Amino acid sequence: MRLANFDGRATLVTDRGLIDVAQASRDRFSSHVDALVGDMKALVDWLGDDQPAITDPTTARELQRDRRLGPVITRPGQVFCIGLNYRSHSLEMSMPLPSEPMVFTKFASALAGANADFPIPSARIDWEAELVVVFGKKGRRISVENALSHVAGYCVGNDLSDRVLQMRGSQAQFSLGKSYENFAPIGPWLTSADEVPSPDELAISCAVNGRQYQHCVTGDMVFSVAELVSYISGVCEIRPGDIMFTGSPPGVGQAHRPPIFLGIGDVVETSIEGLGSMRNVAVASS
Ligand code: ZN
Repeated sequence: MRLANFDGRATLVTDRGLIDVAQASRDRFSSHVDALVGDMKALVDWLGDDQPAITDPTTARELQRDRRLGPVITRPGQVFCIGLNYRSHSLEMSMPLPSEPMVFTKFASALAGANADFPIPSARIDWEAELVVVFGKKGRRISVENALSHVAGYCVGNDLSDRVLQMRGSQAQFSLGKSYENFAPIGPWLTSADEVPSPDELAISCAVNGRQYQHCVTGDMVFSVAELVSYISGVCEIRPGDIMFTGSPPGVGQAHRPPIFLGIGDVVETSIEGLGSMRNVAVASS
């Protein structure tokens, strides 16, 4: 099942067309995506059992490029991000493999929909295609074996980064340097976990102006999705609506020889096998 935030309303994306969740269910289900991630199974069952009527004939293909798509979660309680979590990315950055997950945040005000424009506040703005996990069930001290049962679904994300702000001070500053307006596009929709049995086997890619710079599989992660969930939940309670950016594969602009960064008008397309793609355009800072 694919759940989108379309024009501010929770919307199911089906092969037949779109279904406005609240309208088609006569308000049995909320119109807001944030209220639904804790109960994805009920939504999956309703879609399968009741065969609700299509409310909009727009196809998934058309919707994917619609600028009215909002972030699949709008107010996460926590946004976890993982640094240096692909073996080949650590290599290209000449960094040793992390001995345990390196965790930071992107502040929630940076979240944006799949086709949102983003500003260029410095001369070193970079891309990072990432698999994003959305949690549906709370828990602490979750075992690796049980970890994926806490996941509501998955989507595509890009951890856009200002390498100037990130590295300017005497200490690296990941969280702020990755939290400018619309620096956390996620989407195009949330694909429920039952349709993604192996989140560690997905092809992930990022192209800039049509040239592919990142292409990898999530199996190259140093710590798997389940291991990350288990590790973080040993410290923080995971709650429904929390999200996690799981780290970038190789091919970021900073690691290119010579380094290349994004400028006004550049088009960033981020895709993950089975989850869809996003298209974000760089614009002048206001
Ligand atoms: Zn990242």
